[in-house]
Amino acid sequence: MIRFNYPYFSGKELEYIQDAVNRGKISGDGEYSKKCESFFKEKFKFDKALLTTSCTDALEMSSLLCDIKEGDEVIIPSYTFVSSANPFVMRGAEIIFADSRSDHPGIDESSIESLITEKTKAIVPIHYGGVACDMDILLELSQRNNIYIIEDAAQAINSFYKGKPLGGIGDLGTFSFHETKNITSGEGGLLAVNNPDFISRSEILREKGTNRSAFFRGEIDKYGWVDIGSSYLPSDMIAAFLYAQLENLESIQNKRVSLWKQYYGNLVSYNFGNTVTLPFVPEYATNNAHMFYIVLQSLEHRTSLIDFLKKNGISSVFHYQSLHKSEFYKNRHKGPELPNSDRYTDTLLRLPMHCYLSAADVDFICEKIKQWYDKESNRI
Ligand SMILES: *Cc1c(COP(=O)(O)O)cnc(C)c1O
Repeated sequence: MIRFNYPYFSGKELEYIQDAVNRGKISGDGEYSKKCESFFKEKFKFDKALLTTSCTDALEMSSLLCDIKEGDEVIIPSYTFVSSANPFVMRGAEIIFADSRSDHPGIDESSIESLITEKTKAIVPIHYGGVACDMDILLELSQRNNIYIIEDAAQAINSFYKGKPLGGIGDLGTFSFHETKNITSGEGGLLAVNNPDFISRSEILREKGTNRSAFFRGEIDKYGWVDIGSSYLPSDMIAAFLYAQLENLESIQNKRVSLWKQYYGNLVSYNFGNTVTLPFVPEYATNNAHMFYIVLQSLEHRTSLIDFLKKNGISSVFHYQSLHKSEFYKNRHKGPELPNSDRYTDTLLRLPMHCYLSAADVDFICEKIKQWYDKESNRI
């Protein structure tokens, strides 16, 4: 079976975990946490980079930092993972769901303005598949209406918008190191704090509402309870694992990008017409090869192709179901129809993408898609 995902291992992970253990300090903010945070500051010029236990937790911290509360509205695309929305619902906000673009599953930037009201407190763009949203449009809306931008950059490590690193453009940016992402620590995340007003409070919220971080830097002589907060910092063993991956960021990215280009080159040469649509990357965005997806014509086509690939030993998956139609939110959604989100819900298919995929695997997968197209697609 060609697996859909397989987490990358550099081979140094256990050595670094052992080193963290030998140092006798395995709780948060140890040696490896600092190494990881320095890596992000140097490579992506984030003012403040805080490791978190997950991207979901980084989004919860963002919700707290923006002081989201009942009566606030937050604009989020419907075609995303639940964690883009839940941290704001938990603080009492109403979610205003936006549609996806017709040419890309990311948020339709041109639809946002009509969703803004006096209650809008934040917009949460998702850089789908690591491909940037058109951030200039969002930043302009944010400045004109005094709205925070929280980039859900869970999939967007090492990807850029007009040369700027994703996650470093809005007030806050959140990353995931879940095992399905390009860089992983099993579970894990990062909060990039770009708005200087949030820097000191971000440390406090992450340290259970205490000013412990400032204490350890010697800035104050005792620490105590100063704010609300929770425990959002990962142990140094998680950070040790992560550092072994970050050191190999370039080679991981090169491998993924070469597989992505191979998929694209093979499939484009088959001239599938409208039956199989290939991913689109706008010129202002880079591609970090987080995923390779195709868009089919109907749910029936997608189900048929998944089965066909499975019979040939290939695991392919679909994912998000429009959040505005979820069991949890459908009765609360008062907004417009979101046809593109619903279309991706039914027709988007993700193909295997991980560092242990060979060029021969990609050729084989593409040939099988061609076989399905020739033999099956016109029978449905
Ligand atoms: C993976 C993902 C998350 C959640 O990340 P965790 O680290 O598992 O909490 C949130 N948003 C998007 C868009 C994701 O892809």
